[in-house]
Amino acid sequence: MTPRSIIERALAENRSKLLEHEALALVEHYRVPVPGYRLVHSSREAAEAAQEIGFPVVLKIVSPDIVHKSDVGGVVVGLETPEEVEKAYDEILENVKKHKPDANIVGVLVQGMAPPGGVEVVVGGLRDPVFGPAVMFGLGGIFIEVFRDVSFRVSPFTRRDAVEMIREVRAYRILRGIRGQPPRDIEALVDIIMAVQRLMEENPEVKELDLNPVLSYPKGAIAVDARVILE
Ligand code: ADP
Ligand code: MG
Repeated sequence: MTPRSIIERALAENRSKLLEHEALALVEHYRVPVPGYRLVHSSREAAEAAQEIGFPVVLKIVSPDIVHKSDVGGVVVGLETPEEVEKAYDEILENVKKHKPDANIVGVLVQGMAPPGGVEVVVGGLRDPVFGPAVMFGLGGIFIEVFRDVSFRVSPFTRRDAVEMIREVRAYRILRGIRGQPPRDIEALVDIIMAVQRLMEENPEVKELDLNPVLSYPKGAIAVDARVILE
C-alpha cells in the first residue's frame, strides 16, 4: 500500500488515527526500519504468523479506541512458542474487555521482537500552524516525561542539523556510551529523523507522528511502535 492509499482509506472511513499496522506500513515506506508484523484475528492465526515472522514475538491489541496499549494490558512481549502466542492472544482480548469494554477491536498485531539491549528513544513529527512540519527527538521514558529533555527542528533541515539535534539533548551521554555501555549508531537515528521529516513534508494530512519507542543499538535502530494522527 502506498502512503496515499493508506491515508485516503482512513480519511474515507472518517478515522483521524491510523491503525498500528497502517502506521507501520506508512513509516516503512519511508524506510524506517520496523520488525516484521501481521494483523491477525484468531489465536491460531497468531501462532501461524509468529512462525512465519520468527520467534520471539510481541502481541499488541489493534483498536482505534486505544491509545496507550500497555495501559489496558494490550501488549505482551517475549513470546517464544506457538503455545505462548495462543495464550497471550486470549489474554490480551480478556484484558481489553476488562479495561475498555466498549473498545472496537480490529485485531491483534503479531510483531517480531527487537533484539535486547536497545536504548529507547522517541522520534516525533508535528505540524506547527505557523512554522509547518517539525521533528522532535528525545530519549524514552523519564527523560521526556519527567525532564522534558527533547530537541526540535523545523523543516527543512539537513542531516547535520539532525546530528546536532541528537547531541543537544541532555541524555545524549547515554547514546555516546556510559558506564561500559557501547556507543549507539547515531547515523541510524539520523536516517530515521530524516525519514520522518520527509514523511511530514510529503503528507500534509499527517498532523502528528510518534515513533515511541525507537530502539537504538551499537549498530542500527528499529521503530517498534508507530502512532499517526491525521488532520
Ligand atoms: P504502547 O506505547 O501503546 O503502550 P508499545 O507498542 O510502545 O505500546 O509497546 C510497549 C513497550 O513494549 C515498548 O515501549 C517497548 O518497550 C516494548 N516493545 C513493544 N514492541 C516491542 C518489540 N517489537 N520488540 C521489543 N520490545 C517491544
Ligand atoms: Mg509506545
